[in-house]
Amino acid sequence: MKEADLLIIGAGPGGYRAADYAAKQGLKVVVFETEHVGGTCLNVGCIPTKSFARNAEMMQALKDSEIFGLNELDYKFDFQKVIQRKDGVISSLRSGIETLLSHPNITLVRGEAQFLDSHAVVAAGEEYTAPHIIVATGSVPKTLRLTEPAARPVLDSSDLLSIDHLPKSLCIIGAGVIGMEFASIFNAFGTQVTVVEFLKECLPVLDADIAKRLRKSLEKQGVTFHMQSSVTAITESGVVFTDKKGKTMAIEADEVLMAVGRAPRVFDHFSKAGFEFAERTGIVVNEHLQTTVPHIYAIGDVNGRQMLAHAAEMQGIHVVNQMIGKDDDIRLDIMPAAIFTQPEAACVGLSEDQCKEQGIDYICKKSFWRANGKALAMNETEGMLKLLASPQGAILGCHAYGAHAADLIQEVSVLMCRNTTIHQLANMVHIHPTLSEILQTAAE
Ligand SMILES: Cc1cc2nc3c(=O)[nH]c(=O)nc-3n(C[C@H](O)[C@H](O)[C@H](O)COP(=O)(O)OP(=O)(O)OC[C@H]3O[C@@H](n4cnc5c(N)ncnc54)[C@H](O)[C@@H]3O)c2cc1C
Repeated sequence: MKEADLLIIGAGPGGYRAADYAAKQGLKVVVFETEHVGGTCLNVGCIPTKSFARNAEMMQALKDSEIFGLNELDYKFDFQKVIQRKDGVISSLRSGIETLLSHPNITLVRGEAQFLDSHAVVAAGEEYTAPHIIVATGSVPKTLRLTEPAARPVLDSSDLLSIDHLPKSLCIIGAGVIGMEFASIFNAFGTQVTVVEFLKECLPVLDADIAKRLRKSLEKQGVTFHMQSSVTAITESGVVFTDKKGKTMAIEADEVLMAVGRAPRVFDHFSKAGFEFAERTGIVVNEHLQTTVPHIYAIGDVNGRQMLAHAAEMQGIHVVNQMIGKDDDIRLDIMPAAIFTQPEAACVGLSEDQCKEQGIDYICKKSFWRANGKALAMNETEGMLKLLASPQGAILGCHAYGAHAADLIQEVSVLMCRNTTIHQLANMVHIHPTLSEILQTAAE
């Protein structure tokens, strides 16, 4: 049996970041990975989608080229080059992570790790033990349970990211983060995109007002949405659904993407370790990410808390701090998130709807991209920001859509971590002209 200070199952953002940090704190770490290092985020998630999103952004800008005096531009879209660029970005980042994991305190074991008991794991024919174990096995795409099996192959997000041709038409089932990002990307690429969503509004993580504006913006760009519609069958030619009036509708599509969320990746062998977990909700953890077996921690998507790469990373660091007895002030409750559509959207903290639902007294300050000098200069006039604060000025949340919304929300996130009030924010100097003035304007 090989011994270490820490075993980590999974080398996604949660696992590799924890390994790197733990190794730098002097712990001997063994990391197990079945596939490529970097996990979902790097290989089939954040990075490839953002690489495609950059292409989409450029194509969108080209559509507006005449506004900038670039008349009669002629160009050809080479989807193979788009794919090559995306693959190049992934492989360069992947080798960066492999370098991180070549730290003398880290052993990377290629193979599936399985629990033997609460202290031992087997992988690649070898047994390993350590006083601490982190489970960071990530998540898998969910699928809809339909009465009849699909009559054609249905793509998940990984399949769509490895597609070798541009579909003429694409039906996306689900208007969550993944569905909306792909809708925006493939629409910009020239694919005819239709989204079918069960809920009344897209992106339930976002303030409903902002989500609606973003959906309308994508509609204007050419995406068709069927909201409050329930998919009943996937046929050879496309998708059949019941629309909000109860009418049966059918749409034809070259490809169908299932984007109805992700489920924690759990295994039967987890029961040998003895901690509580469930297929739908993942591994049960306390506020310090400890499972019901205290020396085993679960971080990232597998605990089903916040399915975001940066959440996984910071949870990993917090967990290692627990092990080495180091206090930290990481605020896992303040978790910004972004949706990289065109324009992008982002949020942190409570939305106006949540304040109302929870009976929280709040003030809501709004500001608009169209009133910002830099946004006008950039021809990015679409966007709105809502800043929520208590009547005394404590920031409760901020939700926005518009160019670079994620950067603005990051600033709010930092301010929330430092308990800054909106009055203090209003007094902080912001560079002119920048989009960050949109935030300051809201606070004033
Ligand atoms: C299309 C898409 C776009 C996304 N975009 C964003 C974004 O823009 N921003 C963002 O913050 N998040 C985004 N996400 C979410 C993000 O990818 C995940 O939240 C993040 O990858 C979770 O990290 P993790 O370490 O928990 O798990 P993962 O990244 O899933 O890594 C888990 C790793 O564990 C390995 N593994 C599993 N079981 C075993 C085992 N038994 N033995 C050995 N290895 C094992 C897997 O092979 C995998 O490499 C996106 C996801 C998708 C699907």
